[in-house]
Amino acid sequence: MQIIDGKKISQEIKDELKEKVASLKAQGKEIALAVIQVGNDPASTVYVGNKKKACEYIGINSIAYELPEDTSEEKLLGIIAELNAREDVNGILVQLPLPKHIDEDNVIKAIDPKKDVDGFHPQSVGALSIGQKGYVSCTPAGVIQLLKRSNIEIEGKNCVVVGRSNIVGKPMALLLLRENGTVTITHSRTRDLKAVTSQADILVVAIGKPRFITAEYVKDGAVVIDVGIHRLEGKKLCGDVDYDSVAPKCSAITPVPGGVGPMTIAMLMSNCVESADFS
Ligand code: NDP
Repeated sequence: MQIIDGKKISQEIKDELKEKVASLKAQGKEIALAVIQVGNDPASTVYVGNKKKACEYIGINSIAYELPEDTSEEKLLGIIAELNAREDVNGILVQLPLPKHIDEDNVIKAIDPKKDVDGFHPQSVGALSIGQKGYVSCTPAGVIQLLKRSNIEIEGKNCVVVGRSNIVGKPMALLLLRENGTVTITHSRTRDLKAVTSQADILVVAIGKPRFITAEYVKDGAVVIDVGIHRLEGKKLCGDVDYDSVAPKCSAITPVPGGVGPMTIAMLMSNCVESADFS
């Protein structure tokens, strides 16, 4: 059984990007990412801090906007419009969730798709669904890299995705399809989930329920990718998969922590480097 090492793979990606950024700099090309946080949700502050650190490591300039909780939607949209117009800004990231008085959809739609490094803009999602060039949501893009860099073939495999959220499940299914997997999407209304998941050669779980997927959901020899992250009492982390019962049945599995988690930021950095091609 192979334990897929997301920490190692994400580090490889960041090191490749660091080299690429250095060679872009040598050609006089700098990359800048604007990161906007509204309010001071502690989890968001940690995520934003990690993104800034990753930018520093790779050599991307990060421009931080720390806006107060009561910032109006109009003000935020104004800042996005300015950043859209700035030639020296390649990527724009608005940390979600936003305070309740701001409409997230309006904010996502306001970002120029050429700078939409989170891949959440309807144009980015549409491009993915019809196989055109565009930014891809970072977590599912990270899952594809984990599979490819672990030499796990996707083509022709039965791929089952548990969860259909806009940021994980749906783009995940589209990416597996793009890689020529035979894809099934399951969700809370799926009948007999176990019967469907136990057909999977590759099972990607993004359900948001701690240790929900136990051994009886998984076929012998399957590859299991666990996107979930939960902090248990005592601060220990676990995923959506019951690792201890599932791992012995798998040919490969991602642990939590150290599986999909570190890939999200690595793929965000990859999108930022790609953004240099648009400028
Ligand atoms: P959401 O809550 O948005 O989506 C959960 C999905 O699971 C929904 O589509 C829901 O179905 C489905 N679902 C819920 N219950 C069941 C059930 N009993 N049987 C089958 N399907 C079910 O979660 P996200 O996609 O945002 O996140 C999923 C997990 O991934 C979370 O643990 C989150 O913390 C983690 N995550 C990790 C990231 C990382 O960087 N590693 C990044 C993003 C998320 P329905 O649509 O019918 O309601």
